[in-house]
Amino acid sequence: MHDLDVLYRQVIMDHYKNPRNKGLLNDPTYKSIRIKNPTCGDDITVQSKVDNGIVKDIRHDGTGCSICCSSASVMSETLIGKTKKDALNITETYLNMLTNKEYDESVELEDAVVYRGVNKFPARIKCASIAWKAFEGTLEESE
Ligand code: ZN
Repeated sequence: MHDLDVLYRQVIMDHYKNPRNKGLLNDPTYKSIRIKNPTCGDDITVQSKVDNGIVKDIRHDGTGCSICCSSASVMSETLIGKTKKDALNITETYLNMLTNKEYDESVELEDAVVYRGVNKFPARIKCASIAWKAFEGTLEESE
């Protein structure tokens, strides 16, 4: 195995075993979003707190495979502290990377870059996407 793959796997396993920002808030700014991935058994809920255009907190809870649970943890660490605009831009870039679409390589994905290889495993793309898609949903203001 390539050295970089070993490093990436270590980051994923670390976040899987020691998830950051796990556990839900009582008062998310907009809404909680729950997404399930029946083919794998992933079931994840994401919440966020936004203040003055800054993502102050992101929480996740649920169960799933190592790719899904670790990506929720990495997502929270990557996006907390960013502006809402930057957080959405990073999310879009990440999702494009996963699905083999063109993406802006100048956008700093931080640890989320470890999921780059997932695009070679179509069955796992959803696992690595759902926490990020749920995060996008948490920012939608209720009409
Ligand atoms: Zn999964």
